Order: sequence, then structure tokens, then C-alpha cells
Amino acid sequence: MVQDKSASERMEKIVSLCKRRGFIFQSSEIYGGLNGAWDYGPLGVELKKNLKDFWWRRLVRERDDVVGMDGSILMNRQVWVASGHEQTFTDPMVDCRNCKARLRADQLAVKDGKRQCSVCGSLDLTEPRAFNLMFKTFVGATEDESSVTYLRPETAQSIFVQFKNVLDTSRQKLPFGIAQIGKAFRNEINPRNFTFRSREFEQMELEYFCRPEQGLELLEYWLQERLRFYADIGIPSDRLHVHKIPTDELAHYSGGTYDIEYDFPFGRQELEGVAYRRDYDLTQHQNASGKPLAYFDEETKAHFVPHVVEPSAGVDRTVLALLCDAYAEDTITDDKGKAETRTVLRFHPRIAPVKCGVFPLLKNNASLVVKTKEIVSELRSHMAVFYDESGAIGRRYRRQDEIGTPFGVTVDFDTIGENGPAKQDTVTLRDRDTMQQERIPISELRQYLSAKIF
Ligand code: ATP
Repeated sequence: MVQDKSASERMEKIVSLCKRRGFIFQSSEIYGGLNGAWDYGPLGVELKKNLKDFWWRRLVRERDDVVGMDGSILMNRQVWVASGHEQTFTDPMVDCRNCKARLRADQLAVKDGKRQCSVCGSLDLTEPRAFNLMFKTFVGATEDESSVTYLRPETAQSIFVQFKNVLDTSRQKLPFGIAQIGKAFRNEINPRNFTFRSREFEQMELEYFCRPEQGLELLEYWLQERLRFYADIGIPSDRLHVHKIPTDELAHYSGGTYDIEYDFPFGRQELEGVAYRRDYDLTQHQNASGKPLAYFDEETKAHFVPHVVEPSAGVDRTVLALLCDAYAEDTITDDKGKAETRTVLRFHPRIAPVKCGVFPLLKNNASLVVKTKEIVSELRSHMAVFYDESGAIGRRYRRQDEIGTPFGVTVDFDTIGENGPAKQDTVTLRDRDTMQQERIPISELRQYLSAKIF
């Protein structure tokens, strides 16, 4: 993919900030890393958690018609035989005879009508062959064919195979959904673009079961719901694109699929797929297991296999989109009129890893410090806050801007009543984006901030 220089520089800056401030590190870094695996540091884990919690709140807690589950990563191999993954979950792979690189055949540049190695530029490539993306493993002490299974390449299959148990225990009626957030693993041929294409990642998937005649309408409904979700975490609609998969490219069982794409610095790429999968998955598992997975309609007294609409989103890709979207460099003028560059992550307060920085104006004044710590302990059980007493106040603001903290609270001499009673027990509240400051009573602080971050 061709990237312009400023876009790749922007990406480099984001990757470097992620490491410098503790969002994302290379896995096993001290041993040279492991390609396609990443660790989330103290700020990254908060960001990721806020995203997952909001997804769960929107899709499960705020709805009557969706319940959650948490399936195991290891499952009976027959699940992957029945789902088709063992046979067909493949990418086309070629080898470069010159530099021995293994490459995805469908992502190569073409020169004079011939595919070209993206590592050394050679045109001497093998014919494409299918490479299965599932990680194979063995369960138990014997390593033979009878103990083979795979790390799950998606979370959806455990929802399908538990459909009946969830239906029977939750007493839901169609249409209803089962949601799950969890790890998935794919042995990607070329992991790349930071966390975008990883070998270990997390998915947020909903399987929304319905009557056959509701499928197409629900596909549109879920597409709109998911777009609303992205708007509510602060991703602007002009950087999101809906790509309708053309009919001739759809899987044979699909009744329609949309990809929701985002304009990353490295190009427009998929964040989420919203797919109408008809009754394919439940029928496959019903046939292969011999266990009925039908729904009994009390009105018509008929049994039928429900259809399903699946919004399937990547946690890591969405975190990366949030980081890319939030990253900005402003030129600001300091107190002495000097221009400086401010790096800021403009996260929506709802997903920002730290909600509020809390600062005593001076660290060597016991009354200021005591008052500040009181505020910290009052806010702490309601939101992630960060206490910082070191350096000039402007520097402390900059440090919080760089990690996307939307609010800063400063306790000064007015707060502790040294300048009279008028402003006693009020603090300065600074807004990250406008850098405007206002005075607010401490007694209103928690409610004010809670309303902004909900
Ligand atoms: P792609 O075409 O980019 O490989 P896909 O169409 O195979 O993705 P799905 O099988 O639809 O992806 O998976 C649903 C979601 O899971 C994707 O939209 C993406 O957000 C996430 N996802 C899939 N593969 C990866 C990966 N290797 N790394 C990170 N996230 C992934």
C-alpha cells in the first residue's frame, strides 16, 4: 500500500508515543519481540477496558434483548470442522524464490502484470497455495491427530454451539442476541501496521438471532447501531466508510455484508464486519453434532433454525483507530509569549484512560497537598484520576494532554482560603481541548465530571 510521507511520519509518532507513555509495547521486547503480538501498558489497558466496557454497556446492559457469555478459547476440534474453518479458513500464500519471504498473494504489488515480492522486489514467486490461519495445538499429554485442536480464530463459534443452552436458561424470545468479548488467534502471514493485523487480538461479537423474514431489515438496523456506537466513542463519521460487499464476492450463505472502514494513516481499512449469515452456522452445527438447535415458535407451534446477523468488531483495531483519531499537534503560546508544540490525544472523555489530573499548585505546601489528596480520594472510586505534584503546572498539564486526559484540577491558595472566603473550596478546572479554565466548587466536581465521562 502506498503511504505518503506525512502519513507514515504520523504513524511513527503515534507508535512512539504509545511506547513512551505506556499504551502499547512490543510483546517479549527484551528478547527481540514476537511478530504480531503486543502488550498493553498501564494506559493502554485502561483505554481498551473503557472501549470494551462501553461496547458491553451499549450492546448488553442497556438492552432487554441481548445477553452475554464468555466462552473458552480451546474447543472441541469438531466445532472447527463443522464451521468450515478447518477446510477453508485460509489465505493464499506465495514464497519468494529469491529472498525466501512468505507473503500473502492477495496483497502483493503488481509490476508489468506480474506479482512482485514486497521485500526484495523479485518477480520470481511460487504459485499461491492455501495456508490455514488457525494455530494448531494438542490437548493433553499425547501429541497425535486425536488430540489436535486450535486456538479459536473468532469468538462467534462458541456462541453458536451454546445457542441452545443460552436460549433455555435466559428464556429469550426471537429476535434476541448473544454477545461476547474475547481473545482470538490467527496465524496471519504478514502481521503489520502496528496492532492492526496481529496474530493474537480481541474481538467484540454479537450474534443476533431472528426469524428468516427479519434478517435483511436487522442487517440495516445493526449497521446503523454500530455507526452510532463509533460516533459515541468520538470517531467522526467522515473518517468512517461503509463498504457494501458486492453480491458476487459474498460467501455462498451470506444474505449481505457491510464492512465498516476507517481512514487509518496507512489507508482505509476494515474495523468491523456486519454480516447477515442466514441460518448457516446453526444448521452446520446441528447437522454435524446431531443435536437440535432449532427454535420453537409458540404461536405457530413450528420448529425452525433461526437466522443470524453478526456485527463483529476488533478491539485492537478500534483502539488503534481511537489513538490515530485522537493524535494531534497544536501550536500554542506559553505565558511568556513563546510558541511551542503541544502533543495532545483528543480522546472522548468516555474512553480516555485517565479522566482527570489533580494537582497541588505547589508540592512543598502541606495544606495544598492535603487538600489535593482529599479530592483525589473522593474522585478515585468513581473514575481514573492521576495525582501529579512535580514540575511547573504548565508542564503537568502538557503531560496529561499527551495521554489524552480531558480535565485537570488545580488546588491553589484560593482553594484553601488564603485569599479570603469568596473562593474557598473551589478549584480551577482546565479543559484539555480549549485549555480554558473555570472555577468550580469542590462539592460539584464529582457530579460535573461524572456527567461528562458517562
Ligand atoms: P481482514 O480482512 O482485515 O483480515 P476479516 O474480514 O478476516 O479481516 P473478520 O473475520 O470479519 O475479519 O473478523 C472480525 C473483526 O475482527 C475484524 O473486522 C477486525 O476488527 C478483527 N480482526 C480480524 N483479524 C484481525 C487481526 N489479524 N488483527 C486484529 N484484528 C483482527
